[in-house]
Amino acid sequence: MRLCYAAPTRREGRAIGWLLGIDIGGTKTVLTLGDRQGRVRGHLRRPTAPSGDAEADLQRLAQDLRRLVEESGVELGGVEAVGVSVPGPLDREAGQVLNPPNLPGWDRAPVRDALQTALGRPVYLENDANAAALAEWHFGAGRGTRDLVYLSMSTGIGGGLVLGGRLHRGVASSAGEVGHVPIVWDGEPCACGLRGCLEAYIGGASWIRRLQAVTPPASRVAALAGGAAAARPEHVVEAAREGDAFALAEMARYNDFLARALVQLTFVLAPEIFVLGTIPTAAGDALCLDPVRRQVRAHTWSFLGDPLRIEPSGLRDRLPDLAGLVVALDGLGALAEAGVG
Ligand SMILES: [Zn+2]
Repeated sequence: MRLCYAAPTRREGRAIGWLLGIDIGGTKTVLTLGDRQGRVRGHLRRPTAPSGDAEADLQRLAQDLRRLVEESGVELGGVEAVGVSVPGPLDREAGQVLNPPNLPGWDRAPVRDALQTALGRPVYLENDANAAALAEWHFGAGRGTRDLVYLSMSTGIGGGLVLGGRLHRGVASSAGEVGHVPIVWDGEPCACGLRGCLEAYIGGASWIRRLQAVTPPASRVAALAGGAAAARPEHVVEAAREGDAFALAEMARYNDFLARALVQLTFVLAPEIFVLGTIPTAAGDALCLDPVRRQVRAHTWSFLGDPLRIEPSGLRDRLPDLAGLVVALDGLGALAEAGVG
């Protein structure tokens, strides 16, 4: 008789088994084998590189997952569930992604069914911003809270909402798309086709376009970037740390738009915590978070603003590993069990 890897054993009343996570990002895909506590046993990173044929891409993903499991010395039968974090929108009922801009050929791609058939394990799907919100809530800066708003804040601005200790998805899993709330009516054009969206002002790609147009050629930002045409947010952050006036003005503009959005969200959702991703996390307290905290407090009622926390990502470069794993945990119903709800 062949001895298989454990079927999830029981200890202290809870199933112990492995989870697989897939985080499909704009440029790289991260496959992770881990446990319910978020401890990573093995992972594999590779370029996202869609071929235009979703079926072929999904078969390749399944092969890579099998390889990861084998190389980690685990049996596929010991994997409780697979979680997939993928750019939205989604049809969760059908287990399909809907026309993701970075994945040509993936419109209505049967992600759940293809992986479930190939691996024989249950597969759960979540949009990437929702997955990140869950990961920050369960493993990161939002642990122990019930009401959290997560904003991704890198190339674009994605958002996810955990309300009352549960992910709030809305239609097409698109609740929390804060990046496309207009902050200037009929303002700058946005990549989404609308105008005046928050993302058109402080999304990374929009800010880079602006910086490359407005950075003075003789400025510190231009010197750090090797020319004004190569200016990026990280050069602004570095120059602002040195006290450069242009960089400080750019940070003030960024913080002002961000604070306006957070004030609106505070009145609508009354969250305990905002967790802010890449750019605010890199800029830190003095350049971004403290000025934003001050502005939000100044423009909200004190009983909402005083207890409100505005924090950087707690997971940072662990996020791609934990985003997939937390989707698997949520699919298994293990978050409600383990969380504060
Ligand atoms: Zn937009």
